[in-house]
Amino acid sequence: MISKSIFSIHLRQVAWALLVILPLTAAVYTIATHLEAARAFAYDQLRERGKAVALSRARGFMKLESQHFTLEYEAPDSDVAPMVLRAAESFYGPVTGDLGYTPPGKVTLILYPDREELRNSFGWPSNNDAMGVYWTGVIRVLSPKAWTGTDDPVKMEKLFRKNGPVAHELTHYVLDYKTSGNYPRWFTEGLAQYEEHRLTGFLWIEPESSFDQSLYTLTDLDTRFDSLDNQALAYREAFTLVSFISERFGPDQLSAILGDLASGVSFDQSLQHRIGLAGDNLQKAWLTWIYDRPDRWNQ
Ligand SMILES: [Zn+2]
Repeated sequence: MISKSIFSIHLRQVAWALLVILPLTAAVYTIATHLEAARAFAYDQLRERGKAVALSRARGFMKLESQHFTLEYEAPDSDVAPMVLRAAESFYGPVTGDLGYTPPGKVTLILYPDREELRNSFGWPSNNDAMGVYWTGVIRVLSPKAWTGTDDPVKMEKLFRKNGPVAHELTHYVLDYKTSGNYPRWFTEGLAQYEEHRLTGFLWIEPESSFDQSLYTLTDLDTRFDSLDNQALAYREAFTLVSFISERFGPDQLSAILGDLASGVSFDQSLQHRIGLAGDNLQKAWLTWIYDRPDRWNQ
């Protein structure tokens, strides 16, 4: 009798606790969901505002459209503008297909005739020699005339497709629109390189990006990717992290992670759910996978 009454008291306490905890949990979940939706909404608004500013600064540029792109360019690039659009179109289907998302409307490309104009449009320092950048809903590209080293239009188009920045920047664009910015910085760089490598074969490898040195931790990549001294190494680590996820767990899991991010699930929660690894465990498993096969890092 005594044990039965204790049991019934316990049951009552549990029932009362559940009565408080369940609505609280539901409320926290609802608030978190609404907060994420509000964050995504604000992010989309800011991105579109940034796009409007970028386009207003390109006032006076000429304009050419294709099925999925709008290209803004200056007069010296009139002869290469159709080729840039052709190359961009060739990557549109593969990138949107791989990322499982078609962004609304046409993708805005702005073509700059030289590195200085590209740098000025973005406020970059003079030592930055990037050929493209994705930022706030706009893909900015350096004219192929400025870096391909040829006047032959056939050779130029071939080089622009093989070594140009469109596949990479378009991946940033599609991921950004799909997830409303719900990803770590290193992940979008890893995914953009992964997709670029898949579509063009291009891989950014330099002596400085060798894995035969002390590496950045995942926390370094998570918290200060852009300010890390050795950018070649940071980018290489990001690329191999995405390769690890896709090759070790399958491209379907990578797709599922992108779907989670689009639904507002946090990156770590998605990784934990899809591949059972996040944080330190992800770092350990990735490094084991890397050093297991020299061809994954020793090149
Ligand atoms: Zn990038």
